[in-house]
Amino acid sequence: MAMHHKLAVILDHPQNDAEFLLVKQTRPPKFDDDEYDSFVDSDLWDLPSAQLNLLEGQSESSVAVQGAESWSEKIELTKFDLDSALNSILEQVGFKAADAGDWKLWKYVEEAQFGPGPPINSVFVRGKLVNADQTLQETCKWMSVESCLSWLQEVKPRCERVGPLIVAGLLNEFAQTRELQIPSTLPYQEYPPGVVLVPMGSRTGKPFRTTNLIVFAPKNVPNDSGKNGFIACGDALIVDPGCQSKFHEELRQIVAALPRKLIVFVTHHHRDHVDGLSVIQRCNPEATLLAHENTMRRIGKDDWSLGFTAISGTEEICIGGQRLIAIFSPGHTDGHMGLLHASTHSLIVGDHCVGQGSAILDVTSGGNMTDYFQSTYKFMEISPHALIPMHGRVNLWPKHMLCGYLRNRRGRESSILKAIENGAETLFDIVANVYSEVDRSFWIPAASNVRLHVDHLSQQDKLPKGFSLETFYRSSVAFSENVGKL
Ligand SMILES: [Zn+2]
Repeated sequence: MAMHHKLAVILDHPQNDAEFLLVKQTRPPKFDDDEYDSFVDSDLWDLPSAQLNLLEGQSESSVAVQGAESWSEKIELTKFDLDSALNSILEQVGFKAADAGDWKLWKYVEEAQFGPGPPINSVFVRGKLVNADQTLQETCKWMSVESCLSWLQEVKPRCERVGPLIVAGLLNEFAQTRELQIPSTLPYQEYPPGVVLVPMGSRTGKPFRTTNLIVFAPKNVPNDSGKNGFIACGDALIVDPGCQSKFHEELRQIVAALPRKLIVFVTHHHRDHVDGLSVIQRCNPEATLLAHENTMRRIGKDDWSLGFTAISGTEEICIGGQRLIAIFSPGHTDGHMGLLHASTHSLIVGDHCVGQGSAILDVTSGGNMTDYFQSTYKFMEISPHALIPMHGRVNLWPKHMLCGYLRNRRGRESSILKAIENGAETLFDIVANVYSEVDRSFWIPAASNVRLHVDHLSQQDKLPKGFSLETFYRSSVAFSENVGKL
């Protein structure tokens, strides 16, 4: 598989060994829209980094990096253009190559297979600023491991944030998660600390091939977790075990190594989120399942016949002393549920958003556009520090991403209205008009969204007088036949 690389630099403080340099990360571009631009994510700090490309031809990098040989099985550093990457990083932070001492290869981290693109692996080099007289740019600051951990784990509303590179490069050894036994064939990511994401092959829709299995297994389980007020308490939590059967053995190994007091949380009932439930109930019959009623009634007895607790949102769960809050977020389906990890303020959003691309709502399971918009605003009000979708990477600009979803849905809705005003009467006409530039394999899921947009337009009384909802609904039956013929 093709691979991409990133170079990250840990630059130690010239006088204080405990501190290293972080740089304020560039924000995604504004929307040029007053409403969307009013939702602002807090500042994000991380190690300075740059893309690391392969060298062309016979050229060689002139930067000497100590210890590179000991990693040579994983990465042959001499094949990469370290000069350019390092220069661009030093430029970002306002230093010159001469300001830093020797470089040493600190760590090489392979990214988990989030998809849809190839993983981006990170090369961490560590050096020290030797010229102590340098003044620091406004976009840079010195931080210690302790202060980074407290920013990550004791999140205060709207406070500044620390990104994933520093966690993978330096903080993971201080992690709060117990030793997980995750098969070596499954690279995983722990970010924020305490939240483990394992992308596992699943029967999901294109362009993704995996569903993120999320595991919480805090190291220090307190004896008294203060059971008051919690709907469920456990020593470990698993979210959305949705892997397909060929990964069931791996899932079994993960579950077998977790504590017996296990809570299983599913965001919604789609196969790519529940396909592994049967493995969990065989492996740990003491496990309890938490899900919305509308989700639970769509999950078969073969998948789950053990203990089950219905949740409706706002309930709190206690896992090894850590608090998680269920958040009812209908839209994708009518039983869809998000989950907020209180201490890191990271929000698991199920299929409300995906790592890349747009949301698909399921018209056959109570998907609803009005609900979808309301749930999106509910998520923005929470002002999460990180957004965790079940397909793709963690998103570090949650409000920006959610606004992008709002804008995208509203844009589609206005094109749908325009198509109707221009005479489109059937589902097929509208889809063919609005999604003409999209590959036809996406027309069936897109049609689900179109039906829900038409409902939403009708609720807002925006449809033109001559438009017949009856004709439109009748036409949706013929739609799949028409698409099939293409
Ligand atoms: Zn789904």
